[in-house]
Amino acid sequence: MSRLFAGTPWDRPPTCDRCGRPESECSCPPPAPEVKRIPPDQQTARLMTERRAKGKLVTVIAGLDAEGNNLDELGARLKTACGTGGTVKDGRIELQGDRLQAAERALQAIGYKTRAGRG
Ligand SMILES: [Zn+2]
Repeated sequence: MSRLFAGTPWDRPPTCDRCGRPESECSCPPPAPEVKRIPPDQQTARLMTERRAKGKLVTVIAGLDAEGNNLDELGARLKTACGTGGTVKDGRIELQGDRLQAAERALQAIGYKTRAGRG
């Protein structure tokens, strides 16, 4: 006997988007949880300088959500833009030296709003 929906899209059992197999035969791992990035223009980065031991100045970029941003990548971009070294820790980016203006320009070029203050 012919099926009512033979040859139409409704005839097909649900298939996996990735392997194309029917879902009953699919053995794909569950999808990785999607990372929710926040558009830069919806965020305000806070910039400040802080004095560390032995009088060393660092420029701190704070106020950016650690899950809404790829802080490691952003830190790398800022280090390149400012021509300095730095680290990412506790959800903050630290750049060696007083890089307030250069970091602010680089953040604004990406699209972030900024608020800078000398600490
Ligand atoms: Zn699959």
